[in-house]
Amino acid sequence: MPIRVLAPEVAAQIAAGEVVERPASVVKELVENALDADATQVSVEIAAGGLESIRVTDNGCGIAAGEIEVAFARHATSKLFSPDDLGRIATLGFRGEALPSIAAVAEVEVVSRPPGADAAVFARLDDGRIAERGRRGAPAGTTVTVSGLFARQPARRKFLRSPGSETNQISAVVSHYALAYPEVRFSLRLDARTGLQTTGSGDRRDAVAAVYGAAVAAPLLPLEFAEGPLAVEGLAGPPHVSRAGRGYVSIFVNRRWVQSRRLVFAVEEAYQGLLQAGRRPIAVVDLRLPPEEVDVNVHPTKAEVRFRDESAAFVAVQRAVRAALLGQSPVAAAAAPALRLEAQPSSPLLWEHAVALERRHERAALDSRPATPQAALPALRVIGQLGAMYIIAEGPDGLYLIDQHAAHERVLYERFAEGRAQRRPEVQGLMEPLPLEVSPGHEAVVREQGEALAEHGFALEPFGPRTYLVRAVPAVLAGNAGTQTETRVARVAGGLPDMRQAVLAFLDEMLEPENRAAGDPSTGSGQDRVALSLACHAAVRAGKTLSTEEMRELVLQLEGAEVPHTCPHGRPTMVHMSAETLAREFGRR
Ligand code: ADP
Ligand code: MG
Repeated sequence: MPIRVLAPEVAAQIAAGEVVERPASVVKELVENALDADATQVSVEIAAGGLESIRVTDNGCGIAAGEIEVAFARHATSKLFSPDDLGRIATLGFRGEALPSIAAVAEVEVVSRPPGADAAVFARLDDGRIAERGRRGAPAGTTVTVSGLFARQPARRKFLRSPGSETNQISAVVSHYALAYPEVRFSLRLDARTGLQTTGSGDRRDAVAAVYGAAVAAPLLPLEFAEGPLAVEGLAGPPHVSRAGRGYVSIFVNRRWVQSRRLVFAVEEAYQGLLQAGRRPIAVVDLRLPPEEVDVNVHPTKAEVRFRDESAAFVAVQRAVRAALLGQSPVAAAAAPALRLEAQPSSPLLWEHAVALERRHERAALDSRPATPQAALPALRVIGQLGAMYIIAEGPDGLYLIDQHAAHERVLYERFAEGRAQRRPEVQGLMEPLPLEVSPGHEAVVREQGEALAEHGFALEPFGPRTYLVRAVPAVLAGNAGTQTETRVARVAGGLPDMRQAVLAFLDEMLEPENRAAGDPSTGSGQDRVALSLACHAAVRAGKTLSTEEMRELVLQLEGAEVPHTCPHGRPTMVHMSAETLAREFGRR
């Protein structure tokens, strides 16, 4: 077949196919242009999911009358000059492709007036060429109207979904730019209704309130992180504000909305041990870094970016979110209908004093531990046990019911994770080695992962066909951990059948390749599931009667935990009934 150069119109449509896939792509490009033009107001009006028309109006810098043709020429841009500029892009657009691409597949009208000009220029493009132009009165800024998208490309139009589904995609685009640019007032009109209206106050929480509702926005925790050239801004939900579905983690890089599974994963990792199974976080994360550190020119619609140092970006996001979460982890309020969630007051000094006296001898017996940056739990006084399951304790502000298994799990989890992270696992040799029969999969793990097993504190030696002798285990499993009392609590929990189960569960976890990699201790990644499984098996069960001394010890350990209020699976370790709630319930107030 002879090779022919394509007619310009055909070439233009092929190129346009890269940029303009659907109505939402048009909206995205036009909104990006408005933001690049420093607009403080952007309004988007859509008819029939954008299939009929799309209009974006801004109050930005406008296009000079003499530049309207060139704005629609391919590869014409005001944002980039030299090849070097491509390596440090600070604007959302840079290829000079959007306007010509849109004009190749739709009818376009533009009205634009730079603030200094006395009249606006008007142009109508048909089939990519200027069909009409003139001057008009108009406010400063730019309005682009796109109608009949793909009217002349029936093949493309066929691939579009229903107006409803296209509308959803458009809403997502505008919502995301609203989250990234809280200082810009966005409005979205969908046929006759208002889809979104933001205040442009500059407070990201206000933007989140407009997108997700005020109830979601109010409790979000601010992200504040800066290290070297990297900074992270944004908001993340505390563990009790979560969602059942994915898609509530929005990632921006220098305020550009990007699809990055890796960075979404970084956010999810930061919630390890804090969310209940099946729940997903809500977060708006804006990673800031010098433009030369990120390549935004790797994807046709710029929806993906490439980092010079991807793991640095990953760690920054994960640390930022983790730090925000660890700074705050509220006690669940008792769920009786009349009880409301109450804030944790700071402990009155007198109370602290009384409890400190009562405990002096116990504390003296404890290892010296690094002081926690903030007292996450007030000092609690143990009163008794309920149903061989819950510890009843009194605090400076009312009553606490502590789930003994969940609390112990939290304590052991942190202890194990810490030993692992410092590569100094607390190991306990077994006086009587434990014979263990394993599956072929487990056997492969034992044979091939010897070093990893040792790092976790396990020593297994071959004993027969698919049988091993367990000679040593992590101290937390053997019920030997730290002080004498701690050991006693741990022993209450233990017992050989449990230990066998625990070793098998550990081998199960080691079958997953991603659980073998050493993690970053400060972010809770990597070894988390292993620590989780060990803690769960070693923790005191519900149904065990505990002595007062053992309960005191457990509560003391919990007070020292980094995240005392939830177990590593994200369930609460305790419920709290405040003094005020009690007074109200008993009609004293
Ligand atoms: P790019 O954004 O990659 O530069 P576009 O095709 O989207 O390419 O736009 C071409 C040029 O038209 C821009 O570089 C800019 O100078 C001008 N322009 C487009 N939209 C606007 C707008 N809303 N306000 C001001 N200038 C605009
Ligand atoms: Mg553009």
